[in-house]
Amino acid sequence: MSYDILIKNAKTRKCEELVSIGIKDGKITAIEKDLKEDARQIIDAKGNLVTESFVNGHLHLDKVYTFVMAGETALKEYNDNGMGGAMTGIERAADFKSAYDESWILPNVRKACDLAVKYGNTHIRAFADVDTKARLEGVKSLLKAREEYKDRVELQVVAFPQDGIAREPGAKELIRQAIELGADVVGGIPWIEFSREDEQDHVDSMCAYAKEYDKPISMLLDDVGDAEERTLEMLCKQSIAMGWQGRVTAQHCRAMELYPENYFRKLVGLMKKAGIGLISDPHTGPLAARVKDLLAAGIHVGLGQDDIQDAYYPYGECNMLQIAFLASHLLRMMTFDDMELLYDMITTEAAAVLGIENHELKVGGNADLVVLDQPDVYHAIWYHTAPAYVIRKGVDITLK
Ligand SMILES: [Zn+2]
Repeated sequence: MSYDILIKNAKTRKCEELVSIGIKDGKITAIEKDLKEDARQIIDAKGNLVTESFVNGHLHLDKVYTFVMAGETALKEYNDNGMGGAMTGIERAADFKSAYDESWILPNVRKACDLAVKYGNTHIRAFADVDTKARLEGVKSLLKAREEYKDRVELQVVAFPQDGIAREPGAKELIRQAIELGADVVGGIPWIEFSREDEQDHVDSMCAYAKEYDKPISMLLDDVGDAEERTLEMLCKQSIAMGWQGRVTAQHCRAMELYPENYFRKLVGLMKKAGIGLISDPHTGPLAARVKDLLAAGIHVGLGQDDIQDAYYPYGECNMLQIAFLASHLLRMMTFDDMELLYDMITTEAAAVLGIENHELKVGGNADLVVLDQPDVYHAIWYHTAPAYVIRKGVDITLK
């Protein structure tokens, strides 16, 4: 057999004519107008769009389906008063965390990962709270799920000190333990600390772990309605100092919407120098990073689901087309060119932010693909329905 899978009558984003796509040993080995139908499985795309599978740049996977447990107070604090109460929201969301237990977290995680498979979301940067209340329960659950789902969904597990380092004594040592257990990425949330000095120390100590264990970094930055917050700048400087260009991801950065133009432009310059990509989640808060301006400046930007039914957001199903649909409204991106950018932000751009190599529909690219039931990007975002087929590592993993 020439191919494991052959997709025929495929529309791609690059070419007007329909093509055939040959897949062998987890790679795309041919893209031609006509390929000999010599494959173990033949998929007829029926003229619909075939693209890279979806990449989810940010998900609090340990918290999924906890909205009822956590109650509504946190969600209200996070969203009211122009995000001025975001810190109080996070404090209220922590109230129930002593109940964290792998016995109920893992089934919730599986539920979300099954939805990810359904919607063709094959890569997730998954955050797990690590602190004295949640302890290592979240991270242990995500590490188990990472193994269980490795042939369907790549989980990049982030050891994340959600409640701070200086204000949460014990969290720093627990982060070390989470890394030792096998977490892939070092997290951080410096803006939550009470003083500038503590914010800087938070950035420095998490970056020191990244260096010691040779790990990438993902931090939630300036996720609050405060134009004075400067933690993205701190992380840029630290990334340059440690030579970590291309291995650092900034999440949220919602205060960016409030920055003066001059400061924003300086920050863009620093982000480029630091090789930092950004993940935005405009549907989970009333402010958002300046996505279009960042893309125009040549910075990699992706979208994330952020939350699924938790203390911060009551909906969500790992459907990245739905996230692009929401972002289209919230970021006012509705031209055809904008839709192409949105689609990049849930596929190739998000992959670039997360350091996923070869996530591209090309000969030699990874065979992580979706065969949609829509003919183009416009209709895919409009209807945001589940793909007809999901292919991961060259294998059809479509939920039947
Ligand atoms: Zn988040």
